[in-house]
Amino acid sequence: MASPKPAAKPVFTSKPGAAVLPPVRTGPPTPRSLRGFRDLLPADQLVWRHVRQVADELATGYGFGWIDPPVLEDVALFSRAAGRHSDIVTKEMFSFTDTGGENVALRPEFTPGVVRAYIEHGLLNNPQPIRVAYWGPAFRRERPQHGRYRQFTQFGVEVIGSGAAVVDAQLVAMFYHLCEQLGIAPVSIQLNSLGCATCRAEYRTELVNYYKPKRRYLCEDCKKRLSKNPLRLLDCKNANCQQHIAGAPQLLDWVDDACKKHFMAVVEYLDGMEIPYVLNPYLVRGLDYYTRTVFEVWPTADAAGSTAALGGGGRYDDLLGLMGGNPTPAAGFAVGIDRLILRLKEMNVSPAAPKAPDVFVAQIGEQAKIKALKLFERLRREGFAVSENFSKDSLKAQLEIANKQHARYAIIIGQKEVLDGTVLIRDMDGGVQEIIGYDKISGDLERKLKNGAASPIIEEGAVAPVEGETPVTAPEAEAPQPKPSGKKQRSSSGSQLSLPDSDENLVEGI
Ligand SMILES: [Zn+2]
Ligand SMILES: [Zn+2]
Repeated sequence: MASPKPAAKPVFTSKPGAAVLPPVRTGPPTPRSLRGFRDLLPADQLVWRHVRQVADELATGYGFGWIDPPVLEDVALFSRAAGRHSDIVTKEMFSFTDTGGENVALRPEFTPGVVRAYIEHGLLNNPQPIRVAYWGPAFRRERPQHGRYRQFTQFGVEVIGSGAAVVDAQLVAMFYHLCEQLGIAPVSIQLNSLGCATCRAEYRTELVNYYKPKRRYLCEDCKKRLSKNPLRLLDCKNANCQQHIAGAPQLLDWVDDACKKHFMAVVEYLDGMEIPYVLNPYLVRGLDYYTRTVFEVWPTADAAGSTAALGGGGRYDDLLGLMGGNPTPAAGFAVGIDRLILRLKEMNVSPAAPKAPDVFVAQIGEQAKIKALKLFERLRREGFAVSENFSKDSLKAQLEIANKQHARYAIIIGQKEVLDGTVLIRDMDGGVQEIIGYDKISGDLERKLKNGAASPIIEEGAVAPVEGETPVTAPEAEAPQPKPSGKKQRSSSGSQLSLPDSDENLVEGI
């Protein structure tokens, strides 16, 4: 393209007196993440780790093991599982031919991979059912929008090898308790039964008969659905199409006795566990492979249908047979963690702030730094919440950081302490400091943390510091401990006990 450059635009100038412009950047453009992909920065991680922990405990508590199928699989695995006409396969999969000529895809969901692993590794021979949980990224090339990303995180569970209704009910209960434990309950659990392949076929015919005369009023997607995937007509979000949904025949009226009995049992178990749910005859789920129980969890009752579900799941009794395994009943659910976290934020539910450090290790001088490095590792291994900022040399800067982190104590090592085999331990609340032997640190610290949880130890005769003033500990004061460490505190004139406002004083003092 040879479009002329706008002449007025000053690119750069070196004329004297001309406005100083920032230097023109040359080289490659600044890298940016892809559309629909994002970074989870350290500030985001607190809530992510919290949710992960709650999910971990939930799955483990319900007796689930963990499984990590690969991110990349044969594209056929997903198209076979999801059904050729589902939106996921036709529009949203990140699939490509790799350099070796293989047709591969980034997983758009976990279930096909888990099922493949079950078949491939002969898990059928283990005691049934197999209960596995997963957590990780999945990929769909959806239109990016609020709470939807092209790389998103799913937590989910699968129970393979049991068709019992109690499994379905327990899965719903698990999802509910996850929301409850995270503080976003009450949520709206939408429940339906899709019947089995036999009764659904009859219903499908009935549904098509109902919609055929209305074909010209339907949206373009629904026109296609009518011939390819009629059940999806029931969850069209188009306002015109929605008018026709209410009059459509209901699946539950068409399911056979066995499927009806199964569904009634699920409902009874849920009632027994006092799990709230709403029967939604139009809930069909996006994937072809569901049979019998399906459910979705919505943030609120009135949000149902209007915004994205937090997740959902159901039974997929035919999937293993469809994928070449022995026919094996199975059920599961998946939670969209990105949306769940968005919901947590909307509801202002924030996880507890991380624990403040027990102790901050500060140092002045090279010798002290080496000793401090070793001490840090020792305390960390002993289980103390210990922090540091060894890249700072100024004690003032280090203690400011300790203060910001709300560290309970600071251990200060200077040149003199290295020679003496001691450290200074400073109560960050009261500003009181004392000298203790290097070998006594752990015991002393443990005692202090145990005793002084509410009230920082202020030694008798110690003067609480006034802001801006140098904290001073009175000479000869004994720490109120069963066994003093043996080292007497120095007097303030001994310089080590005082913490001057500036580093210069301090370095001189030590
Ligand atoms: Zn049936
Ligand atoms: Zn439609």
